[in-house]
This record gives sequence, C-alpha cells and structure tokens, in this order.
Amino acid sequence: MNLEKGNLLYRGKAKDIYQTSQQEQVIVKFRDDITAGDGEKKETMGLKGYYNSLISAKLFTILENALIKTQYIDLPEPGYMLSHKLEMIPLEVITRNIAAGSLLRRFPFQEGQTFNPPIIQMDFKNDEYHDPMLNDDIILALGLATSDELEIIREITIKINGVLKNFLENKGLLFPDFKIEFGRDCDDNIVLGDEISPDTCRFWDRETKDILDKDLFRKGESGVIEAYQKVANMILDDEDKKKWSLDF
Ligand code: UDP
Repeated sequence: MNLEKGNLLYRGKAKDIYQTSQQEQVIVKFRDDITAGDGEKKETMGLKGYYNSLISAKLFTILENALIKTQYIDLPEPGYMLSHKLEMIPLEVITRNIAAGSLLRRFPFQEGQTFNPPIIQMDFKNDEYHDPMLNDDIILALGLATSDELEIIREITIKINGVLKNFLENKGLLFPDFKIEFGRDCDDNIVLGDEISPDTCRFWDRETKDILDKDLFRKGESGVIEAYQKVANMILDDEDKKKWSLDF
C-alpha cells in the first residue's frame, strides 16, 4: 500500500485530508487533537487518532456490508484511512435513540427517554454560527442540499442507525445518539463521509451504563483514551486485532 500523501486539501479540528496520486481518492489522517465547545476546549491525547481510525474503519465496513455507500476504501495503517474524495455537505445529521446532551438542555425531555422512531436532527456545520439547528426550508434556502438529496440522506441515516444499533448492542454497547456527515462523490451520489467514532457518537456500556465517548472530555473527567480503547476492544473481532497486533 502506497501511503504517499500529496497536498493537504483540508484541515479540520481532528482530521486532515490529503490528496493521493489518484484524483478521486484521499487519505484521511486521524489526529490526536480533541476539542469541545466549537473548538474552545482543546487538548492532544496520544492514541486518540489511532483508536478512532480503527473504530471508524470497522463501523464503515459493517455499513458497506449492509450495502450502504461510505467513503471508506482501506485502512493501510491505523490513523490513516484511504477514502473516496467527496464534496462534503455542511450538515451535521444527528440521530437520537435515547435523550441525552443538548436535547435535554433545550427541550423538556426526560433523561434516558427512548425514541422509537428515532429523532433525526440536522444542524448547520458552521462554528461561526455555533452549529444552529436547521429545518428543511432553511437547508433549501441556504442551498446546502436539494430536497431529493435530503430525502436520500434521511433514508440512509435511518438505515445506518438500524444497522449500527443492532451491531453495537450485540457487542454490549448502547447507542444513544450519533452525528454523521454526507458528501457527493464524483457522480453526485450521496455517500457517508467523515468518521463514526467516540468523538462523534455517544456509546454507553450496556451493563454498567458507563460513558465510553467524548462526553468524558466535555465533562473534564479522566479515562478518555481508556474509554476509546474499550470501545475498540468491544467492537473489533479477533481477526481485526490480529491484523493490527492489538494487545488489549
Ligand atoms: N456531535 C458531534 N459534533 C458536534 C455536535 C454533536 O459529533 O458538533 C455528536 C455528539 O457527539 C453526540 C451527538 O452528536 O453523539 C448529539 O450531540 P448533542 O446535540 O447532544 O450535543 P452535545 O451535548 O454533545 O454538545
């Protein structure tokens, strides 16, 4: 596998995107930077990028096996994901199975209340405007996506939630909520991009209800990397662990 990185195309808060020698392929580098509150709280945590790349690659593979199109091509080495190049849509598509986080601060839901069907919420990915919640009319008026694209995004998101919730519950994890992002590939297909990791999802231990995601960092608690490692340990199978010589 040739891991030669070309030009840096984009630098986000936790990942860098590099061009490869193939026009339609990029390398996503998962960095160890961890941020919260629109990037106001920021630290670097060794191995965070490593675990997030392994977890994202695993979950993208589970989705690909369920015939959902993702950006994922390969993980040539932990921390670096070979991906299809996408024109990203600045929407944070949030799915909620259990009430947590900002939903409880903004609306009179009960903590732990479950949603069936799940709630799908779309926020504007824009730090300057503090990621405000959108509705379809605002999305269309801003020209972020077409109504056909929105319909496809909703349909795929519901399918993703079903596949991942089922997979994670079988591995001993509750999946209260998560954020995903979509892009358009070179044929204008809507494709799942970004990452699916403890930075962007809530994962709770099904038995103990322990928090195993970025909420630990948001709350200033210890054991952040240990929690990310635990998620990786719970969802990767023996073959994955052997491939990466992981010794948990
Ligand atoms: N989320 C994210 N990026 C954001 C905002 C939220 O990845 O900029 C994820 C977050 O990790 C959680 C879900 O989206 O899994 C819902 O987040 P919420 O609205 O509850 O916001 P929070 O309480 O995390 O600020």
